[in-house]
Amino acid sequence: MRIWTGSPLRIQSTPPSAPVSDAPLPVPSLPPSGAPRVVPATSIRLEDVDQDALRVLSRLQRNGFEAYLVGGCVRDLLLGRKPKDFDVATAAHPRQIKRLFRNGRIIGRRFRLVHVVYGPHVVETATFRADPIQENENDEEPGDLLITEDNVYGTAAEDARRRDFTVNALFYDPNRNVILDYVDGLPDIEAGILRTIGEPPTRFAEDPVRILRAIKFATRLGFRIEEHTWSAMGEHAHMLSRSAPPRVAEEILRLLRSGTALGAFRMLRACGALATLFPEIDRYLGRRDDPDPAAHDRADKYWRLLEALDADLHNKADPTPAVLLAVLYLRVVEYRTEERGEAPLAWGRIAAELIEPLATSARLPRRAVEGAKRIITMQHRFTQPASKSSGRRLMFLHSEDFPEALHLFRLRSAAWGQGWDVYEGWLERYKHARDNPEELGPPSAPRKRRRRGGRRRRRGGRRGEEEAEAEAGAVSTSEAHVDEGDAPEL
Ligand code: ATP
Ligand code: MG
Repeated sequence: MRIWTGSPLRIQSTPPSAPVSDAPLPVPSLPPSGAPRVVPATSIRLEDVDQDALRVLSRLQRNGFEAYLVGGCVRDLLLGRKPKDFDVATAAHPRQIKRLFRNGRIIGRRFRLVHVVYGPHVVETATFRADPIQENENDEEPGDLLITEDNVYGTAAEDARRRDFTVNALFYDPNRNVILDYVDGLPDIEAGILRTIGEPPTRFAEDPVRILRAIKFATRLGFRIEEHTWSAMGEHAHMLSRSAPPRVAEEILRLLRSGTALGAFRMLRACGALATLFPEIDRYLGRRDDPDPAAHDRADKYWRLLEALDADLHNKADPTPAVLLAVLYLRVVEYRTEERGEAPLAWGRIAAELIEPLATSARLPRRAVEGAKRIITMQHRFTQPASKSSGRRLMFLHSEDFPEALHLFRLRSAAWGQGWDVYEGWLERYKHARDNPEELGPPSAPRKRRRRGGRRRRRGGRRGEEEAEAEAGAVSTSEAHVDEGDAPEL
């Protein structure tokens, strides 16, 4: 084993808006022998390490199995960040792990691992994997690198090299208090560089979701993306359409919820992933080099909403997936309505028209998509003049979607500097309504309900828009849900 005597680790932060390095960086050479660099983990404090994970590690090691903390937790510990979870990798096979832990459960098919359960807390314990590509060599489609099988056990060195980025492939042994670096990850952590392990085009072709992960890590950590990695991301962005829909959706929602959505979506656009996943949004934003100031203003309006979302998250807000998706589409819905000279009442129809195909191409969760359509549809109600009757307003305030609709309205107000007083008025009313539910009347009080499948199914005619709005908005089963088909009175 070689001992690497690098300097103590520190974070070198680069703004997310500058993802690409100016000068080409040398592609790191891996130690030919397959031996890791072993570095004292002087910057890691043992009290920052999860006690249950330490327990799992020491039992594995006491029983003669090589075992380390791996992945994101090692990266975060080195960067002085609080890890989200602590994952263990070991030479022990799932059944061997299970035998050591009565509280262990073998899970997964594509990727079998053991969950060691301590009450509500789980320590994910995985066997070292080898690069599954070798297994795919006899595939019918030569040259197709997409990974479909990931259950080939291997050594620690192989396990490190099959991971995505150098900074995600460090192993930490708390007992010896050393880091094992098989992939030159330590210098990249120190320099704040995100780089694939191995050849970037191969690694993105194997798994295009790594493009989204690269953007997530670069923006979250303030790292810059190494030049070859960045250009391969651009070359492979179109392949995202081949990735498993739930994985894509999960990463998109993570980016929106990251607190760095602005930087992340700028990068998605710059590398071409936005055009693959959200072509309508990409078209709305237009060309990055468009000299027309109107095009610039249009894009700016979009970015400001993401900026407001980020600020909101930094203020500890917890937007639901429906609010996140609504933020993604809202400006495009609004613009399309303006462009066609339609009334705000048309938002429901346009939201449905826009979000439906985008939801398919980006493979977003159905519940969140329906919720996003409904709360976009509800936006115009916040700015409608109030009438004498408070009945409908109460229904609106008590509707299941109201909190999310109000959240979206707050983000709009913050982003575009309009309607903050209106928002505060609604917030007061909402708090009052929440604290005085009896004002709505008894839950079983008879209410005029729309005939099932009646008016809603009718198309065209003078009420067409309201019906489209109802279709997008009246999915809730809540007793107090607003009848969106009727002209709202506030
Ligand atoms: P986070 O802090 O968001 O959890 P993480 O680095 O722990 O970040 P995970 O998605 O939890 O990321 O994955 C754990 C580890 O598994 C990663 O650090 C990486 O080493 C490896 N990994 C995850 N996804 C991939 C992938 N698509 N390709 C290769 N390696 C991956
Ligand atoms: Mg993790």
